[in-house]
Amino acid sequence: MWAAGSQRAPACAAPGSNIKRSQPAAAAPPPAAVLPCQSVSSGAQACRTGLAGPKQHCGAAYGRVSSSAGASARPAGRRQVATAAAAAPAASTDDPELPPASSSGDRSHETDIVIIGSGIGGLCCAALLARYGYRVTVVESHYHAGGAAHSFEVQGFHFDAGPSFFAGLSGPPGSSTNPLKQVLDAVGESVECAQYKKWVVYSPSGTFECVCDAEAYADNIRRMGGEEALRQWRALEERMAPLQAGAALFPAAAIRGDPGIVLTAGRYGPGLLQAGLVANKLTGPFSAVVDEVVTDPWLRGFLDLECFILSGMTVKDTICAEMAYMFLERNSGHSTIDFPFGGSSTIVDALVRGIQKHGGRVLLRSHVDEIVVEGSRAAGVRLRGNRAPGGRPEVIRARKAVVSNASVWDTQRLLPEGAVPASFRQQSLDTPRTGSFVHLHLGVDATGLPQGLEMHHLVANRWSDFEAPQNVINICIPTVYDPSLAPPGKHLVHAYTAGNEPYEVWEGLQRGSKEYQAMKEERAKPLWAALERVIPDIRERTSLTLVGTPLTHERFLRRYKGTYGPAISARTGSFPGPSTPLPRLYRCGDSCQPGIGVPAAAASGMIAANTLAPLWSHWQLLDALGL
Ligand SMILES: Cc1cc2nc3c(=O)[nH]c(=O)nc-3n(C[C@H](O)[C@H](O)[C@H](O)COP(=O)(O)OP(=O)(O)OC[C@H]3O[C@@H](n4cnc5c(N)ncnc54)[C@H](O)[C@@H]3O)c2cc1C
Repeated sequence: MWAAGSQRAPACAAPGSNIKRSQPAAAAPPPAAVLPCQSVSSGAQACRTGLAGPKQHCGAAYGRVSSSAGASARPAGRRQVATAAAAAPAASTDDPELPPASSSGDRSHETDIVIIGSGIGGLCCAALLARYGYRVTVVESHYHAGGAAHSFEVQGFHFDAGPSFFAGLSGPPGSSTNPLKQVLDAVGESVECAQYKKWVVYSPSGTFECVCDAEAYADNIRRMGGEEALRQWRALEERMAPLQAGAALFPAAAIRGDPGIVLTAGRYGPGLLQAGLVANKLTGPFSAVVDEVVTDPWLRGFLDLECFILSGMTVKDTICAEMAYMFLERNSGHSTIDFPFGGSSTIVDALVRGIQKHGGRVLLRSHVDEIVVEGSRAAGVRLRGNRAPGGRPEVIRARKAVVSNASVWDTQRLLPEGAVPASFRQQSLDTPRTGSFVHLHLGVDATGLPQGLEMHHLVANRWSDFEAPQNVINICIPTVYDPSLAPPGKHLVHAYTAGNEPYEVWEGLQRGSKEYQAMKEERAKPLWAALERVIPDIRERTSLTLVGTPLTHERFLRRYKGTYGPAISARTGSFPGPSTPLPRLYRCGDSCQPGIGVPAAAASGMIAANTLAPLWSHWQLLDALGL
């Protein structure tokens, strides 16, 4: 059943031993320039509150923290990330719904470009804009940077709120097709990663490993689906080959949202030609290719599952370009999965450093209430809460542009009445959305766990209806590769339903109420059941339990109805580009092209930044990146 044997040392004896490391991380970051109003950081180190101790407050995101163990000391081995947080004033509250700390002073100022939100899209956009020489300010509602990719700490466990599956983050500058890596290269930053190759799938017909290597992958398809499934897989690979080639030769970094794209794309003559020849297929649904050659039910289920974990949609709705990149990566011959030491906040910290060292600012606890519109164009943002001396609202004025990294729905809510045509507003608000999440963040005893415990596990209770609630569950145990994320002898476990939890089930419940608590227990049951397939006695091992819900997502990620993102089917539409009908208002993030996921959000940030940059600067950046 297994595609390849595990080479790793026992996870129980020494979690994280025998780890393959990527390139060394970037040199220590320069000290951040801290303004009185500036509060810059991400990750657990920045956790601070006036209400609770630093070991507890992040758990407030989850309401009640269930713990059977005392607070643990922070492991000595965890990498310190220099931030400006230490210099930030004490915050008055840990609730991002409340106004930001009043002691932080007047944040009003003028800059070139304001970016609303510090998700991966917003940070990548800001980093590139700063690299292009613009003065940028990122305003983030939360007390952590990173959006879905932020990390938080409870009792010595350093949890990632969202993404944990990354590829193409390692290697020297210019070596990766991952837009996030290209942004990091552009600002002279890097992240050190553990490299590995496998994840485990628990299906109704058995458990198997997926290995990110073309031959091992095919071999596994034969074992699980049989010879006919393999034959059809080979046929699919053949159909995908020209699409892969098109995707490979035309980097996302060359895209801009104005006619200048004719020139930047012109650099990639053969790639452009190749991409042009297959453009219809690339921008259509993956099913247009799959339906030509795949009928085997097991293989169709497998492809649906692959699509679902990428886009939150199945083969019939997922854009083919997204899958072309996946085939490309798997067939590259040097494909690995990268886990950044320190978790997703390591990426966020690197982006923040990249922004700062190019003169930009990231302001946390700075919720934007409204996009300021003057003379029929975006002119800045008005912040919530504080009033500047004299009772003036705090406004950050933008000479050149405002870029919104908030979701398509949330961006509309920031616009004054009549700022954009009613039809555009309605279309944006009507954008279909994927479901939300239920999370279990656990601290567990690692003693005596079997050798070769893998980091990623995917449980599919049924081999169809992957979008159905509670069918697909993701499990991640990052301490397998980075033991410093938990106290000694412990594992950190994150399990979640994958963008298929209906918001409606939770709508109207009061956080902290008995009903909410009961609902958490009820809806977390499938997560526990999935976890028991990986670690049968997990309940007895667990000393810390946090349950996150769609309400948590809505509140802490500032995402409309806690959604994973837009469910825009490639059959009927496409994700929008960076421009909007309101002059000087742009957008980025996973509500924009190319779509959901960390590389895609990074690409959207790149595209927005390129669109704002002069053509010549964009050209020079492509030269500098060796693209
Ligand atoms: C649980 C989970 C697991 C995932 N796993 C993976 C994975 O393994 N691999 C992968 O590639 N992708 C994964 N994804 C998807 C990926 O994380 C997201 O698509 C991506 O991080 C989204 O980035 P973004 O820039 O669109 O914005 P977001 O992360 O949504 O950030 C937007 C930011 O804007 C801020 N904001 C919104 N409104 C305002 C306002 N009015 N004022 C100020 N700030 C505001 C928010 O607070 C937030 O910080 C996962 C997502 C989740 C939720």
